Amino acid sequence: MLLTLSGLTKRYPTGDLALKGVNLEVPKGQVMALIGPSGAGKSTLIRCVNRLVEPTSGSVVLDGTEITGLGAAALRRARRRMGMIFQEYALVERLTVMENVLSGRLGYVGFWSSWFRRFPRRDVEEAFRLLHRVGLDHMVDKRADALSGGQRQRVGIVRALMQDPQLLLVDEPTASLDPKTSRQIMRLILELCEERGLAAIINIHDVALAQQFARRIVGLRAGEIVFDGPATELTPEV
Ligand code: ADP
Ligand code: ADP
Repeated sequence: MLLTLSGLTKRYPTGDLALKGVNLEVPKGQVMALIGPSGAGKSTLIRCVNRLVEPTSGSVVLDGTEITGLGAAALRRARRRMGMIFQEYALVERLTVMENVLSGRLGYVGFWSSWFRRFPRRDVEEAFRLLHRVGLDHMVDKRADALSGGQRQRVGIVRALMQDPQLLLVDEPTASLDPKTSRQIMRLILELCEERGLAAIINIHDVALAQQFARRIVGLRAGEIVFDGPATELTPEV
């Protein structure tokens, strides 16, 4: 199993119990949509996997590594195996597409536009390959703030892929996009996962979109899993 969550529980300091002992397994290469109403705990679940949010109890095991017990340095290494894609893209506005993408290799973004020229040639080539794949190779030198929403999300996807992850953690990737662009982005994420054998947890509140693109759907409600099955068996009350 690529990812195993056992008894994953999160209580925020405010007292909110966002996850109540969630058990979940994600096999290698499986793309899974996580659905549920606002406040169900979807975002908390995704963030507990890479410990952007610290779980209160329970465990997260990625490919044999117990993520929950890791110290800072080991956690940094483990996080490289988990690419994160955000709703608001989280690009650095005044850096170019190429610079944003290459920052995925480092896990942080440098201050000057010129630093990226010192990247190994194979990193730059890989960046070009991926940007070509998502239809953005003509925009490498454009600043992030000059891009459309769909283009920004494609940059966010490429940046995550530059880590060469085993798992993508995708938090509401289409929430800021129009319906047509949303479908394009979901299709792209799915195709890339298939091509590269990546697993993904895609947190998405749009049930129709989830059903259209993900074979496995997990429904979360008030911090508990209330549905886990194929998209075709999803019933309206989930
Ligand atoms: P979803 O992503 O499904 O909308 P969240 O994981 O964002 O759900 O939230 C689950 C619950 O945890 C909600 O009750 C929310 O108010 C609470 N919550 C989320 N983040 C925080 C936080 N940083 N501090 C306190 N409570 C939080
Ligand atoms: P928008 O301005 O609506 O955000 P996009 O930036 O998403 O538009 O798309 C701009 C153009 O790029 C569209 O014509 C779209 O069909 C095309 N496009 C979208 N995804 C891809 C892709 N994966 N590969 C190549 N071209 C794409």
